[in-house]
Amino acid sequence: MSDKVGKHIAIYGKGGIGKSTTTSNISAALAEAGLRVIQIGCDPKSDSTNILRGGEELPTVLDTLREHGKVRLEDISATGYKGVLCIEAGGPVPGVGCAGRGINAAVDLLQELNLFETFKPDAVLYDVLGDVVCGGFAVPIRDGIADRAFVVTSSDFMALFAANNLFKAINKYAPSGGARLGGVIANSVLAPYATSLIDDFAERTGTRVVGYIPRSIEVSQSELYGQTVIEASPGSEQAQVYRKLAGFILENEASCIPNPLNGPDLKNWAREWGDRIFKSEAGIVEASGGI
Ligand code: SF4
Repeated sequence: MSDKVGKHIAIYGKGGIGKSTTTSNISAALAEAGLRVIQIGCDPKSDSTNILRGGEELPTVLDTLREHGKVRLEDISATGYKGVLCIEAGGPVPGVGCAGRGINAAVDLLQELNLFETFKPDAVLYDVLGDVVCGGFAVPIRDGIADRAFVVTSSDFMALFAANNLFKAINKYAPSGGARLGGVIANSVLAPYATSLIDDFAERTGTRVVGYIPRSIEVSQSELYGQTVIEASPGSEQAQVYRKLAGFILENEASCIPNPLNGPDLKNWAREWGDRIFKSEAGIVEASGGI
């Protein structure tokens, strides 16, 4: 989007898969490199930016709107690690309203407050819950808010299922101006088969893996400190992984429209992998289809 200030990037992922941790470490890495970064949490849990701010919670845009009607930027934003501007869109009152419309209302408000023109970000990261890519949570990729979307996934089937659903949404909206897919971020990879499985999923869906984040004790430790790995363990290999990923995402603008698998094909593909993993664990060697 040519009239946007900075690069606007949406990062989706199934809840609990590590999307907020990944997004926050990317923000921290970019800010550490001297860039101006805004991170906007678009998850009703409203804890996207906590590890950029010593574990502190932030009043959400929607709660503040509900309570005060009128909102100033200073009421709903706070500066985190190395100046990252942190904002939480918030969610609906439980049982009432639509989380996606809340994201839309929050982004509209930030535009009304001239946030992007005032702050002049190099990068704006939207951390979006990707469990259900319904019309609501598709807002960042549907309404021209983000230019590119990335999906964080592990090798767990439900995380890949959520990624495949995001691909369906991108496939639907990208031809009419919605965001395109920047790539897949393989998170929490540990077993050797995990990388092969995610690589194969990317190949089958016409996408690409842009980064592999190993499972690491430093991630858990940093989170317990209320910090990113970049802040808590700046000299670690894990911090280097996040820095490399952040640099790639910002500089490499290649994107695609994915070819999601249909339901039966996804199930068959998963079953094939289940067999391959079982055979591998049982020590059964075959001529092809190595893990
Ligand atoms: S569109 Fe999505 S976020 Fe909104 S009410 Fe429906 S399921 Fe919930």
